Amino acid sequence: MKFDVVILGAGLGGLECGYTLSKNGYKVCVLEQNPLLGGCLQTFKRKGTSFDTGFHYIGGLAEGQHLNHLFHYFDLMSLPWKKLDETCFDEVIFNGKSYAFANGYEPFIETLAKEFPNQKENLKQYIATLSEIGRNIFHSFSPRDAEEFYQSKAFTQSAYDFLNETISDPTLRNVLAGTSLKMELHPEKLPLYIFAQINDSFIQSAWRIEGGGMQIAQKLAQSIEQQGGTIRTHAKVVELIEEEGQISRAILSNGEEIEGSYFISNIHPVGTLNLIHESKVIRNIYKRRITNMANTYGMFTANLQLKDGEVPYLNRNIYLYETNDIWSYHHYQEGKKTDCVLVSYQTPEKGQSTTRNIDLLTPMTWQEVSHWENTSVMKRGDDYNNMKVRKAEECIELATKRLPELRGNIENCYTSTPLTYTDYTGTYHGSAYGIQKDHAQLAYTMLTPKTPLKNLFLTGQNLNLHGILGVSMTSFFTCAEIMGMEKIREELSL
Ligand SMILES: Cc1cc2nc3c(=O)[nH]c(=O)nc-3n(C[C@H](O)[C@H](O)[C@H](O)COP(=O)(O)OP(=O)(O)OC[C@H]3O[C@@H](n4cnc5c(N)ncnc54)[C@H](O)[C@@H]3O)c2cc1C
Repeated sequence: MKFDVVILGAGLGGLECGYTLSKNGYKVCVLEQNPLLGGCLQTFKRKGTSFDTGFHYIGGLAEGQHLNHLFHYFDLMSLPWKKLDETCFDEVIFNGKSYAFANGYEPFIETLAKEFPNQKENLKQYIATLSEIGRNIFHSFSPRDAEEFYQSKAFTQSAYDFLNETISDPTLRNVLAGTSLKMELHPEKLPLYIFAQINDSFIQSAWRIEGGGMQIAQKLAQSIEQQGGTIRTHAKVVELIEEEGQISRAILSNGEEIEGSYFISNIHPVGTLNLIHESKVIRNIYKRRITNMANTYGMFTANLQLKDGEVPYLNRNIYLYETNDIWSYHHYQEGKKTDCVLVSYQTPEKGQSTTRNIDLLTPMTWQEVSHWENTSVMKRGDDYNNMKVRKAEECIELATKRLPELRGNIENCYTSTPLTYTDYTGTYHGSAYGIQKDHAQLAYTMLTPKTPLKNLFLTGQNLNLHGILGVSMTSFFTCAEIMGMEKIREELSL
């Protein structure tokens, strides 16, 4: 059987492409190497408790906001979304002092201006820029002067320079960047558009999901099947066959061949190219470019299983720092103690005021784990296990400064490192947010869905935007290569 579109990988990007194309009558087949769908949306269960691996919260899901518009299209709004506290969805702690991030532009400005009264005008300017960029990116589906758009400050300025230029108080600069563990804070590279789009969406509104992020993947997969599409798990693609300048079929690890007219890869671009063993079209210069692109840092996560009924649920995230140097986590500094942690709560079961599970996350570079890259899961040795125990202990020690109730109530601690992500999602070098974008070399570091092969397209967080909102937007740019942008705008009623 030949499919219209074969999609490699059932991460968010692959599934969203599968949804849009199957909704429009294309015969799609989504191939996922793992037993579970979702990639970074995977949820795992230990002793009856569910833990999220990647995704923890999203922004912009209230009526009229950007992600809401897209999730309505994907029929995801019926999932059990839980709004975080509007007066403090994120709490940032620097050197023992707490700062609240409130939802809504005005409340956000007013709340922080109470702590930094002489920065009120600067905060207004900060919000005006973020909201304008967030809006412009969302409306980039519409026809516009592309050259002018990509030459605007959002794309050519670094987030670091923007903050320095807009906010004169160094503590406030750190506070504003303090919730940005959801991107790689690289002072020389991070483009303003990424910082602005992500922060703008969370300032609009912030949400968790009750019961784990994998429901997003499951719901999309269910819709794809209802729309006539095929979803296959345990289907690892090991080769793409090129014939006459196009991909003709995907070969699975069991030798099975899946034919298609178009192919979309949700796999990291390096992994995608490695699947094409012989090509007359892909030049070495393109291969070198993709292979040499830097990747953002990975994450270390300690998933804590807590005693029942002991730890009160907090309807917010906590970002805790014991440093003022928050723009340096892309550097591996040997022997450096963990000095930042994101505390993320899983929503408790209905009616409960306490939680059974909390995740602690902190950045971790590939260099920190590359020593074990040629080992396999569960067989990495005692030194790896000891490193994980030490790192988890540092995260717990930091978190208990704000949440002393954690100590004494941890039943189990499960950990993951960038190596875990490489094993389970095929992400290159365990990168949490994909290929690193560089505002000074945007044309080089921002990939489009197109590849040198005319029927092979890319999707997912490695292209231009990451995170749930970014990947969702990118999926439409990928589908536009097959369906046309006019049709996409019509689908989205834009
Ligand atoms: C620790 C962490 C925390 C995060 N927290 C948040 C958050 O709170 N909010 C937010 O908005 N974003 C968050 N993100 C980012 C967000 O989760 C990702 O940007 C997004 O889920 C990436 O989706 P994707 O489709 O690009 O790729 P992936 O999720 O990486 O999916 C790729 C898929 O391809 C499959 N695959 C790979 N190779 C093959 C093969 N050969 N054959 C078949 N299948 C294959 C993989 O198994 C995987 O399922 C987080 C990410 C991480 C890592």
